[in-house]
Amino acid sequence: MTENNPLLVGITGGIGSGKTTICRIFSILGIPIYEADSRAKWLMNHDLLLKQEIIQHFGTESYDQAGLLNRAYLAAQVFSQEEKVKLINALVHPRVGEDFSYWVQDHKKAPYLLNEAALMFESGRYLQLDRVITVFAPIDLRIRRIQSRDAHRSPEEIQAIISKQMPEEEKMNKAHHILFNDEKQAVLPQVLQLHQSFLVLSQKSQTN
Ligand code: ATP
Repeated sequence: MTENNPLLVGITGGIGSGKTTICRIFSILGIPIYEADSRAKWLMNHDLLLKQEIIQHFGTESYDQAGLLNRAYLAAQVFSQEEKVKLINALVHPRVGEDFSYWVQDHKKAPYLLNEAALMFESGRYLQLDRVITVFAPIDLRIRRIQSRDAHRSPEEIQAIISKQMPEEEKMNKAHHILFNDEKQAVLPQVLQLHQSFLVLSQKSQTN
């Protein structure tokens, strides 16, 4: 934990693992949540520097006449081209990191803060954080959840997204805490236990 900052906790997990659902519980407990993925989308539409960089690398067609991101165009530009995916991430991730730092300054009174991101380790975002939780659910359950949440997505599309994400075992090895959202273990007691341990950690750091 850096001086004068609250404890910073990341929460990650594969598509459909239940990150957002679990964040809602932390939010009910009064913990502010930084939603890195939706914030990244917002920044791609509103951060002037980032927009300029995207146009510079991917062309003016990256934005429509209203100045909003042409997602279909950009998706086609990066489709199956690992180098281009890396490039867009290299443009977006640092801006999100900076935006998160400002957000932390605005939420300093909270005992701890949560940063929710699907690409926590891949983006290097975890380096800004004190603790990381990974939410685990088996793949078949995640596919079922996504199919009932996003009716437009085919099982093949969901599988393709999963295959591009870091394997669950690797995330579990890298994280400090694992939260099992697998319909075998109750979620609420796990969240409450983590909440208590983060409160203790944050108090300890304040008395040091
Ligand atoms: P994404 O990576 O796509 O943002 P996510 O990890 O944030 O996904 P959620 O959106 O929280 O996942 O959950 C996926 C779907 O599964 C949602 O419709 C949610 O309501 C449902 N879900 C999550 N956890 C549970 C649970 N324990 N019991 C029942 N439904 C659940």
